[in-house]
Amino acid sequence: MKASSLSFLCCRSPYEESKVVILGCPLDLTASFRPGYRFAPNAIREASWNLESYSPLWERDLEEEKICDLGDLELAGTVREALGQIEEAVRELIGDGKRPLLLGGEHLITLGAVKALKGQYVDLVVLQVDAHGDLREEYLGAELSHATVMRRVWEEVGADSLLQVGVRSWDRTEAQWAREAGTFLGEGPEVTLPAELKERPLYLTLDLDVLDPGICPGVGSPEPGGWNFKDLMAFLSRLPADRLVGTDVVELSPPFDPMGGSAMVAAKVARELLLQLCKKFDI
Ligand code: MN
Ligand code: MN
Repeated sequence: MKASSLSFLCCRSPYEESKVVILGCPLDLTASFRPGYRFAPNAIREASWNLESYSPLWERDLEEEKICDLGDLELAGTVREALGQIEEAVRELIGDGKRPLLLGGEHLITLGAVKALKGQYVDLVVLQVDAHGDLREEYLGAELSHATVMRRVWEEVGADSLLQVGVRSWDRTEAQWAREAGTFLGEGPEVTLPAELKERPLYLTLDLDVLDPGICPGVGSPEPGGWNFKDLMAFLSRLPADRLVGTDVVELSPPFDPMGGSAMVAAKVARELLLQLCKKFDI
């Protein structure tokens, strides 16, 4: 008998054989506006079935890669406990020599992943692609929130190791902080990336709201004036894929995506990132 469980497209290689692993992190606890992130990983998997496994952009095919979709973490308890679970899971994956693609979930999941990766790669660089800075010291009384996550990440990785691209919405103090810390590279996809990016292990966190709400409205905090899909693909193609040690796609909120179009966008982004993760690297 052949029965199928929901996986991202054809990503069903055995764990032991896989270099790249998909892990759903349906964290949905600190949304300030439009919650529903808990439904996102499976919405992205469902949407992926509409895609070809072949990417004309990279001229590579998921069918020819060893990728395992582990399903979703069962996150329980407080925000801190859930982040601890994500950190532990990612630590296990990278300990086994895998490169993870995390499907959010709210943006806070990045903190768990970065804590684990920082343990393995001391000179880790985190590149955030996002409409928002997410740099608040605290938000609505919480230190751990989608609006503070990159400040916490910066505290983990240290100065010169957080880079931000695409931000077009700041709180005034955040904007000033980013200017002083030198984290912000620019709003447009054509920004110049520092040359040192090619030499250090790279974690890419992709908040889908960097895209214009006309293309991807089903996110927690839509922000007008964003990138189009081809802008994002052009930007991704400029990244040193052989340095990529992990990545995430966050902030899809399926209850606000009744037509499923934003899940489609997320799935296609995830396909291209998976193929980038599959590129050989040697760190
Ligand atoms: Mn955002
Ligand atoms: Mn964000």
